[in-house]
Amino acid sequence: MLNRPKRRKISKRIVLGFPLLVLLAVAIVWQSIDSVREVTGRAETLVQRHIPELREIATLRAAVDGYLRALYEYYATLELPREMSNGEAERRISRAMSALRALGHYEGEEASLEPQLNGFRQAAREFHKEMQSGPGRNWDRLREFLSKASTYATLANGELKAWDTWIRNRAIDGGEEAMSGVARLNKLQLAFVSVVVMMIALLMRLLYVRVRDQSRLYSVAYHDELTGLPNRRSMHKIATELMRDEVDLVRKSVMWLSLDRIGLVSGTYGYDLGDQLLATFSQGLETLLDESPFNCCLFSFERANWVICVTEEEDYPNASQLLSHIETFTQRPLLIDGRKFNVACSIGVAHYPEHGNTLTGILRKADTARREAVGAGGSTHRLYHVEMTRDAEHFLAVETGLRSALKKGAFELLYQPKLDSRGDRVHGAEALLRWRHEGRYMSPSRFIPVAEQAGLVKAIGEWVLQRACEQWVAWHAQGVDVPPIAINISAQQFQDADFPTLVQRILERTGMPPGMLELEITEEAANVRPEAVVEAMGALKQIGVTLALDDFGTGYSSLAYLKRFPLDVLKIDRAFIRRLGESAQDLAIVRMIVEVAHELGFEVVAEGVESELQWQLLRAMQCDLLQGYLFSRPLDADGFLSFLDSVSIRVGREAG
Ligand code: C2E
Ligand code: MG
Ligand code: MG
Repeated sequence: MLNRPKRRKISKRIVLGFPLLVLLAVAIVWQSIDSVREVTGRAETLVQRHIPELREIATLRAAVDGYLRALYEYYATLELPREMSNGEAERRISRAMSALRALGHYEGEEASLEPQLNGFRQAAREFHKEMQSGPGRNWDRLREFLSKASTYATLANGELKAWDTWIRNRAIDGGEEAMSGVARLNKLQLAFVSVVVMMIALLMRLLYVRVRDQSRLYSVAYHDELTGLPNRRSMHKIATELMRDEVDLVRKSVMWLSLDRIGLVSGTYGYDLGDQLLATFSQGLETLLDESPFNCCLFSFERANWVICVTEEEDYPNASQLLSHIETFTQRPLLIDGRKFNVACSIGVAHYPEHGNTLTGILRKADTARREAVGAGGSTHRLYHVEMTRDAEHFLAVETGLRSALKKGAFELLYQPKLDSRGDRVHGAEALLRWRHEGRYMSPSRFIPVAEQAGLVKAIGEWVLQRACEQWVAWHAQGVDVPPIAINISAQQFQDADFPTLVQRILERTGMPPGMLELEITEEAANVRPEAVVEAMGALKQIGVTLALDDFGTGYSSLAYLKRFPLDVLKIDRAFIRRLGESAQDLAIVRMIVEVAHELGFEVVAEGVESELQWQLLRAMQCDLLQGYLFSRPLDADGFLSFLDSVSIRVGREAG
């Protein structure tokens, strides 16, 4: 089973987490750019400003020291040093000062450094001049100039040293800041790598969830949830390949199996137990096929349906052997929750290529055969034969036709007269339904069972009731002495708790006197849930309608048993009437039925009277009413009126 909420939670986490990580990555990159810019700024200041400054300061200091040393040397040796004679000492100082100025930072220091340097250069120039004056030079003045130059040099050096220290400190600070910037960059780099790793992990997870979901979806789409077996879709994938094996024309049998009465088990013990039963049965079936020597595949179709595809040899022997294995398997009860359940199944079998060469065709045929098995009461199997499809197709065609006939009003009622035993009075009429289908009338005995199965019989029955009542009232309004009308009611109509109410409503709506309406129910239909039928009959009797039991003799009920139904009329089935002149046994049976029915207070009608002999025999038995082709076939409304007229004219003539 899929754990949907958990899956949704994971996907949600991924969907939310991923953009957050992207945002984090962008922030880290932003921060890193900032840090790189800062570190680069520091490095640039150091390289482009501080280092050249320090270099020029050092050069200036060296130039001042060198010049001072040359002054002392000149004083001591009286020999003019070369750097003084060629003015190099002076130029060195000027060059260094210009270089510092060129760096653009000298101006700031000018106030303190420039006077010292100018003082030094002035003292040096005066010393030089005095020294040049020759042997009469004034040694005191020379010492004074020397001391002045030395003082200025010390002061300038002091300034330069302070400046140097200041720059060094700045460089150290900048370096430290750059170092911490680099450390921060390292951290950011680490964070970025972590975020990227997390993003990759999330993407991998997402990919995994997708792949897992897809494989789950595949499994759900191609397997039955309850049994875990491959389903119909799967079958189309696998079995189409098997069926396409046309090279050596390997024969296959397709068996469609359904569990009988599973709805009853689920309805009685609950759906959980029903599901357990299905799963256990399915497992048993799987084991049975696994252990069988046949090459077969098992598929689980919609609830309680399985399809087995068996590879066959000549004449399809494997399917019949497998069928007997399955029958043995179903004879063993299944144990669910400590309770034993006996299962039964209906199986339809179709062969490939004998019954078709497409999978869908073979499946449909196996299903048709299975339906036949179900229709035969279940717990059996049927091999497909062509008649089955014809029946099924007929059913579908009739059902579609009936639906449109109801809409279009393509039904009609015919009326068959019922006469007294002397044949000189019409005592009633039976309304018989006709449906003009594909250009000709179809017998109700062919389409009423279809209408019952398709759930259309109630609507059709209501139409018949309404139409018959309207017709009676219309004839009556014309001043015709109309006899009671009987209509046929199907078992399903009688089972409907609202049926008596419907009858009452239609009687009221049409103005039909209840005593003029007779309802015929077949003996077979009366025996479907007889308690409900007795109750419905009671309600109908209350309304005032007459009740007749149709086709009596076909359902094997005893007359005494019939006493429990509040009936008025008994209609002997025409199967007994038909052989009345030929079979002494049937004659005795009919005579006995008439006698006992009279004793029980029923009026007796004989159906299907076709010959004079049958009439005379029935008359001799004092059968109350006669109905059959001998007197009249079922007639349309006008035909029935003419028949009424012809009978009264004939009677009048005979009386006259
Ligand atoms: P049923 O009620 O026993 O109707 C008598 C059937 O016997 C009618 O067949 C009628 O045409 C036929 N029949 C009458 N006299 C003779 C005769 O002398 N010889 C022969 N061979 N047949 C004779 P139909 O009209 O084809 O109806 C067949 C059955 O269909 C009816 O049997 C009845 O059970 C059912 N049916 C007819 N109309 C309706 C209806 O409106 N509703 C329902 N639920 N069933 C109807
Ligand atoms: Mg009838
Ligand atoms: Mg009948």
